[in-house]
Amino acid sequence: MDPGEKILSKILSMDQMDAWVAAEKAAGRRIGFTCGSFDLLHAGHVEYLGKARELCDRLIVAVNSDASVSRYKNPLRPVVPERERMYVIAGLAAVDVVTLMEEDRPLSLLLRWKPDLYIKGGDYAEDALRSGDAVKEYGGKVAVVRSGFETSSSKLMERIELLNAHAGPDSAFNIASRQGCQGLVLLDRDGTLIRNVPFLHDPAKVEILPGVIDGLLKLQGAGLRLAIVTNQQGIGLGYYSVQDFIAVNQRLLRELGGRGIRISKIYFCPHSLAEQCSCRKPAAGMITRAMRDFGTTPEQTFLVGDSDDDMQAGADAGCQTVRVGEDGFRAAAEQILSLAGT
Ligand SMILES: [Zn+2]
Repeated sequence: MDPGEKILSKILSMDQMDAWVAAEKAAGRRIGFTCGSFDLLHAGHVEYLGKARELCDRLIVAVNSDASVSRYKNPLRPVVPERERMYVIAGLAAVDVVTLMEEDRPLSLLLRWKPDLYIKGGDYAEDALRSGDAVKEYGGKVAVVRSGFETSSSKLMERIELLNAHAGPDSAFNIASRQGCQGLVLLDRDGTLIRNVPFLHDPAKVEILPGVIDGLLKLQGAGLRLAIVTNQQGIGLGYYSVQDFIAVNQRLLRELGGRGIRISKIYFCPHSLAEQCSCRKPAAGMITRAMRDFGTTPEQTFLVGDSDDDMQAGADAGCQTVRVGEDGFRAAAEQILSLAGT
């Protein structure tokens, strides 16, 4: 068996798990069960799973599905899709089998397989474990394993974000910022940067509008920083997911990045009109938040858009607004440069 196959053979469906558990129990082996999202695997996970395996003869790890991670953690997570998270966990020597956990909590899996030990990591006190009582009821035990490492997937993500906020010494962006940040340009996405496709969620349909590349290069060259502010009601209405939205942005950022254009941040409103949030344009929420994040005054902040809602949002935030008209984005960029006095 090649190494890849050996790892895949440790990933079992629910039905395969039923048979595996029955066979291991029949052989008199003590079964341990643990679960988690294991999004960005780190030293704490490896230490924890190693300690968990020492408490039993066979260790089952149930990995939270993508949908369940989005539900209980953060709609933007996970970073790594479930198939790959399961593969990484299955690659660890301490782990005997891996299965997918569709539900947020392990209760139904614990009752299905009745492992001898339910093992949990982190700071959970034994009596705080929601499923602990059910385990004790069928005669199992609960064990808590603590890690000596301070790290977590969330901390790793914060660290990555922090590093991303610092321009590398050789990047074009750093050269621009050394010339001094002259202000912030907030860009509507659909109909301003790319052709408007209703409820766009297919990266293949991203089409950058004429004049956008030239215009953005000029704005960036003048020391203005660029960010996107976009309404994405399609998320709130369930027409497409946050991940679909991110995939569209990835396509856009790649094309812009290939031309040397850096978008510093993307602000989006995922709500439907009915939710009456404070971020959906014409409300000014995304714009005031961007000004706070970038530390710019309304006078140093410019909003470019193609709709009345864009203009209203920008005006309500007190910043200068420029509408992309028939002359296209390049003309709008020139207008901003003259307003900015650069
Ligand atoms: Zn909103």
